[in-house]
Amino acid sequence: AHLDRIAEVDGEVHAFLHVGTEAALANAALVDEQVAAGTALGPLAGVPLALKDVFTTADMPTTCGSKILEGWRPPYDATVTARLRAAGITILGKTNMDEFAMGSSTEHSAYGPTHNPWDLSRIPGGSGGGSAAALAAFEAPLAIGTDTGGSIRQPAAVTGTVGVKPTYGGVSRYGLVACASSLDQGGPCARTVLDAALLHEVIAGHDPLDSTSIDRPVPSVVEAARIGAQGDLSGLRVGVVKELGGEGYQPGVRASFDAALQRLEKLGAEVVEVSCPHFEYAMAAYYLILPSEVSSNLARFDAMRYGLRVDEGASAEEVMAATREAGFGPEVKRRIILGTYALSSGYYDAYYGQAQKVRTLISRDFSAAFAKADVLVSPTAPTTAFPLGEKVDDPLAMYLNDLATIPTNLAGVAGMSVPSGLAEEDGLPVGLQIMAPALGEAVMYRVGAAFE
Ligand code: GLN
Repeated sequence: AHLDRIAEVDGEVHAFLHVGTEAALANAALVDEQVAAGTALGPLAGVPLALKDVFTTADMPTTCGSKILEGWRPPYDATVTARLRAAGITILGKTNMDEFAMGSSTEHSAYGPTHNPWDLSRIPGGSGGGSAAALAAFEAPLAIGTDTGGSIRQPAAVTGTVGVKPTYGGVSRYGLVACASSLDQGGPCARTVLDAALLHEVIAGHDPLDSTSIDRPVPSVVEAARIGAQGDLSGLRVGVVKELGGEGYQPGVRASFDAALQRLEKLGAEVVEVSCPHFEYAMAAYYLILPSEVSSNLARFDAMRYGLRVDEGASAEEVMAATREAGFGPEVKRRIILGTYALSSGYYDAYYGQAQKVRTLISRDFSAAFAKADVLVSPTAPTTAFPLGEKVDDPLAMYLNDLATIPTNLAGVAGMSVPSGLAEEDGLPVGLQIMAPALGEAVMYRVGAAFE
């Protein structure tokens, strides 16, 4: 049914870069056989899923939305991919994304943009717009995204779906093609909080193949979501981050947030105001740290090891330059240049070193805030889905989409976006962001499930 739905709507939505029809049908048939034989099934056996095209898959291409990886077939499955398969999940295909996960609209994909199913002339968010759009268009009930600065949560907000960025180290990065390694985190996307929780427990947990993976038990998020669904938040303190409510929010987003606070109070939560004074520097720090890591990580695309090779010139260096020139899009090039500049000798202390200090101050802001509140809340994104083309030539306007989501990544704590109604002026979905301390996903899911 989901493959039929994809055939019906994906010509317009363009959520998928690759649909693995045969493998999907083979897995469905396998689950049928297991059912007939009475064999024990995986926890989500046969449930279809859309996988962001940044996780390696041995049976499908992995492009990261880039021409430089066109035609590349990874020799191995990412840990997340392997865990999905072990749970019996049917992977329908790979979803569209901004090139190497840099962007907030999926317009930086080398394979053309994804369209928001709510209004095909608008963006589905990014970088994981394909995964979010697949959910909103009912092409898949579950999806996987990655969140470096908001790429799971902002697409969830603008498509009326649920997206979770787990604690840094909560989900393995093995086989997740790196954007910025100290910020990247894979996570579940779904249409309900309970569905996200079920998927979370499948993909999370320690992985010896990822040196930053946390060797601790996975928070019991399914149980927490079930408790939350009973609708009682009494005894919980919800902190409103003063600095994430300032300028730049669309009126309907603000109104939806005010209504969300009232609803949380009605559910029994105590709403308190907290201050995180260094959050105003988060965006500046992020756009030094992320490009620095990008410039280093993307050096591996050297025309020798993966995908595209433009055979122009006499030397390896010339071939590499021609390949990178042809294979990378403008946003990726912009960030590589920013990163190499920030890391150059003589500038390191002024830029990268300074940004790392700001990062520590932001973590301290979170610790102080979580001493006063169990979870923190804010609008997920400053606006609803904007028209395709509106910000694609204005990098700063595009970067501002992640104003409220970036601090979470810098500190490594958990965050999620849940639907918070529709904005009055345009009838488009708005998201509520809920943030929790590292490994505090249980309370976050509880609040999310009570709220939705
Ligand atoms: N939109 C942000 C950026 O362009 C976040 C990206 C992400 O989370 N992968 O960097």
